[in-house]
Amino acid sequence: MSKDLIVIALGGNAIKQADQWGTTEEQLRNVDVTAQQIAKIIANGYRVVVTHGNGPQAGALLIQQEEAEQFVPAQTLAACGAMTQGQIGWAMQNRLSYHLKKAGVMSPVCTVVTQVQVSDDDPDFKDPSKPVGPFYTKDEAKQLETEKKYIVKEVKPNTDKPWRRVVPSPEPIDIIEKDSINALLSSGAIVIASGGGGIPVRQMPDDGLEGVDAVIDKDRAGFKLAQAVKADKFIILTDVENAYIRYNTPEQKALKEISIAEAEKYLEDGEFLKGSMGPKIEAAVRFVKWSKKEAIITSLHKALDALEGKNGTHIIP
Ligand code: ADP
Ligand code: MG
Repeated sequence: MSKDLIVIALGGNAIKQADQWGTTEEQLRNVDVTAQQIAKIIANGYRVVVTHGNGPQAGALLIQQEEAEQFVPAQTLAACGAMTQGQIGWAMQNRLSYHLKKAGVMSPVCTVVTQVQVSDDDPDFKDPSKPVGPFYTKDEAKQLETEKKYIVKEVKPNTDKPWRRVVPSPEPIDIIEKDSINALLSSGAIVIASGGGGIPVRQMPDDGLEGVDAVIDKDRAGFKLAQAVKADKFIILTDVENAYIRYNTPEQKALKEISIAEAEKYLEDGEFLKGSMGPKIEAAVRFVKWSKKEAIITSLHKALDALEGKNGTHIIP
């Protein structure tokens, strides 16, 4: 009997650790460790869809676009999203196939380059919130503002280069490739999709879709993906084993099992940081409300134990 269908959302550290330079070899080694854990989950009978962040990879690619502009044109942010989905998808296909074969599992592994629809009316288009790419001095930032119409903000005051480009981080509305993803799943494939939160696209009057220079939060998009494939569980893997209350204080307490109501109360109380744990809890709550099933937040190495109920933070109806 086949077990539950699980959407696994991988955090940045599954691909590049903060203290690493980020070479191809380094990233493949990290993905190898990640893939080994995911293969264990699949070998235990679960069906799996993987999604992942792309912050460090997209950031590196944006630097390459800017530095090489005298030779070749800079590609758009949407194009960089597509490129990093391919890059990370390849690494995952390569290492996951390897570990699945070793475990005697013959499932094919396939990445779907995924577009995610956003709305022009999203409030984040008026006041963009997501810093991307390199840091600049004020002069450099102002020049980019004039020349390239970038929106720039001072994000790290009192440093050499405190300014950064900011882009909108709109809500994901729909996973465009959901039918392809579901077709692959029903054929027995392990699917990697909606990497980096997906390539943001907007609906055009002629019914086409146009790439948007924005970045979608990968945990929010992960929920839309879980909805699109009708997942039984949504598990968000990051660099901490639990969500905590009173995080980083002497009274820190790991949350083992919390209801939607408790999660919402803690969110309101500001227990989870906005740019990191906050979106994970929000995405988990959305999933639990929609599915009436559980969502889990834990670290990569506790993932299988957490699925068996032994570890991690479980958000339940
Ligand atoms: P990812 O790349 O996995 O999305 P993030 O850095 O965005 O990683 O989110 C994970 C981080 O959230 C943890 O490393 C931790 O520092 C931070 N965090 C903020 N608030 C909390 C909390 N209440 N409990 C646990 N972690 C928290
Ligand atoms: Mg994050």
